[in-house]
Amino acid sequence: MDFLKTLTFLRGGVHPEDAWKKKTRYHPIERFVPKEVTIPLSQHIGEPARAIVERKTKVVRGDVIAEAGPGGVPVHASVSGTVKRVALAPHPLLTEATAIVIETDFEATPPVWEEAPDWNNFSNEILLESIRAAGIVGLGGAAFPTHRKLKCPPGITIDTLLINGAECEPYLTADHRLILEHPVEILNGAALVAKILGAKKIILGIEDNKIDAAKVLKAALEKHPSTVPVEIRLCKTRYPQGSERQLVEALTGKVVPARKLPMHVGVMVQNVATVLACLDAIAFHKPLIDRVLTVTGSGIQNPKNLSVPIGTLVQDIADYCGGLHYKTVKAIAGGPMMGRALGRLDVPVIKGTSGLIFLREEEVSKEGFGPCISCGRCLEVCPLGLEPNQISIYTEAGRPLETETFGTKDCFECGCCAFVCPAQRPLVQFIQMAKNSFRRVA
Ligand code: SF4
Ligand code: SF4
Repeated sequence: MDFLKTLTFLRGGVHPEDAWKKKTRYHPIERFVPKEVTIPLSQHIGEPARAIVERKTKVVRGDVIAEAGPGGVPVHASVSGTVKRVALAPHPLLTEATAIVIETDFEATPPVWEEAPDWNNFSNEILLESIRAAGIVGLGGAAFPTHRKLKCPPGITIDTLLINGAECEPYLTADHRLILEHPVEILNGAALVAKILGAKKIILGIEDNKIDAAKVLKAALEKHPSTVPVEIRLCKTRYPQGSERQLVEALTGKVVPARKLPMHVGVMVQNVATVLACLDAIAFHKPLIDRVLTVTGSGIQNPKNLSVPIGTLVQDIADYCGGLHYKTVKAIAGGPMMGRALGRLDVPVIKGTSGLIFLREEEVSKEGFGPCISCGRCLEVCPLGLEPNQISIYTEAGRPLETETFGTKDCFECGCCAFVCPAQRPLVQFIQMAKNSFRRVA
C-alpha cells in the first residue's frame, strides 16, 4: 500500500470536512439496548414485509417476526421479549408505517450464534439464501436487498469487488470504527462476497483521513491472507468519494456510463458494514438485527459510536447520550449531505440508519433562499456535470417536466450543488420535486 498516493474521481466534488466534525473517530463502539423497540416492516425499497407475530407473542432475539414481501427480505426481532402491538408508528423516511413493538426482556437467555464449521465451502446458492434469510440490505445508505444486488443478470461478469470504506460524509465515523475494531471479519466477509461474485480481485477503498484504518487492515491482511487477492488503497478526502460511481472511477479508473451500474463495467461495490453482516449471516447464522451508527453534532451532550438493536427510538438514543443541548433545533438521520431531517424523535433506527446528527440553532440557516445569481458554482462541483441551477429555475417556475435535458433523472442527490450555492437555493429539493413530477406522469 502506497500511503503517499491517494486516488480520487475526476469531476466536481467538495470538501465539507472539518477534522473536528469527525470527533467520534476515537470513540469505541458502545452497546445500548432500550426497554422497547419499534421495528418497521418497511425498511428497504419495495413492498414491506408481512408480520407473523401478534400482541403478546414471546420472541427471542433473531426470530423472524415478518416474512419478506416480493423481492424483499424478512424482518427479525432485535431483542428478546414480548410483542406489545403491531400497529402504525412514526417512520424516519415515510410519515408512518406498520411496525412491531417489542418490550425487551433483559432477563432472557441470549441466543448463541455458533460458527458453522464448513461455511467456507458453502455453495453460492446457500450463500445467497443465507444473506436473504438474514434480512441483509446495503448498509451504506441505499438499503437495497443484498442478495439481489449480488445476483448479477446473465452476461454480466464481475472481476473486481470494491469494499467501500470511504465514509465521505462529514461527522460519520461508524464505518471507521468497524474497520478498526473488526478488520479480520471485514476481510473474511469481503472474501465471501468475492467468492459469490467470482471476482478475481478485492480493492478496499479508504479516505486518507482514516490512515489508521488502512494500517489496521494491512496488518490484519498480513496475518490472515485472503483467498482472493486484496489491495488496500487510499482515496482523497473529498465528497462524494464514497458514492459508487466516484469510488469505481477513483479505484479502477473505469467510468460507469450514465444510467448504468458499476456491474456494467465489471465492478461491484459493497460497504464495509454490509460485508460484515454477510459474514455474520453465513458463518454464524446471525441475522441483521443490530445497527452500528454515529450519534454526534454539537446538539448532543455525549457524542458516541453506538451499536443498537434495530428499532431503537432516536429519543432513547439521545437520552442515552446525555440528552440534547438546549439550543438543539435539528436532527438528521444519516450524514449532513445526503441524510434526512427528522420531524420528530420518536422514530426508530432502521437498517439504513448510518448516523444521527443533532445541530444547534447557530448551525442551521434561518435565512430563506434567493434567486439564482448565475455564479456557476453548482455546475463546477456537480460530479456528473448536470445543471442543477436550470433544474431549480424551471421547477420553481412550475415547469419541472422541461428539466430532463438538464439531468434531473441522472442526479443521485449528493448535495454538492446546494452546499456551495451562495443564494442558499434548496437545489436537491427542487430536483426531488422535478423527479416526482416525472414519476407522476410515467
Ligand atoms: S445533487 Fe445532483 S445536481 Fe447536485 S451536485 Fe449532486 S448529482 Fe449534481
Ligand atoms: S450555485 Fe446557486 S446561485 Fe450559483 S448558479 Fe448555481 S443555483 Fe445559481
